[in-house]
Amino acid sequence: MSNEKYSTTDAIILKYQTFREIDRNFTFISPTIGIQQATAFGAEKLKSRFCSVVQPFVKTKLFLSLSQKKNLYKLDDVAEVDTNDFLRKDLHFIYLSSFYVDVFLNTFMSSEEYKSFYHLLLYSFEVLKEKKDLKKSFLFFVTKFLILSGYGFHLSNCRKCGELAENYFFDLKKGGIFCYSCAESKNITISSKTSLLWKDFFEKRFIFLKEDVVDKEDFFELFPIILEIFKNIFEKELKTIPILKEIF
Ligand SMILES: [Zn+2]
Repeated sequence: MSNEKYSTTDAIILKYQTFREIDRNFTFISPTIGIQQATAFGAEKLKSRFCSVVQPFVKTKLFLSLSQKKNLYKLDDVAEVDTNDFLRKDLHFIYLSSFYVDVFLNTFMSSEEYKSFYHLLLYSFEVLKEKKDLKKSFLFFVTKFLILSGYGFHLSNCRKCGELAENYFFDLKKGGIFCYSCAESKNITISSKTSLLWKDFFEKRFIFLKEDVVDKEDFFELFPIILEIFKNIFEKELKTIPILKEIF
């Protein structure tokens, strides 16, 4: 009787490490088994069919065997490979994609969320591919990530009195925007235009957001707010945050 279990899954490679000089240990996200690690034997050899596939941001089907004795995945074959070369040819794309990977590697995902997180990454890459738009990809990724992490903010009018205003104050702990009279904390200002744009990103589906225009001014109002929220979620500054600040 065989003590190996076989499985096939779609995946996006997140990172890899060379070991024993010719092999690669890699981490991937799958819509069915979540974030996992596997070994691609011989992947460092140029002749290996794994050489160009087992690298960050590649989307591929993986044929894996799980040795029950060691509880380790071994890569047997790949198919339907989309190398996403465009992501590795632009330094800013690499930085942004590395941030996405960093976020994923620091996130606990429950099994019913695997599919959503997998597609979040896929769509965020697609915005970069089709629109070459770093800001839109970033805003899409972080906002949908916030939703998956259970965050939602009241962004249409003052959360307390319901008044409409030109400018508001954002309050993370109280979950939304407040007018001048109602705001308890006046550290973070946000214009109504920016709030409504962000609201769109919370509410609209990918297919519609793809066509949205993200103004520079709106983006730079949101950027520090988002960094603050992420610091709060991860209880530390992720190591890719400094390079993010270089891109934008
Ligand atoms: Zn108010």
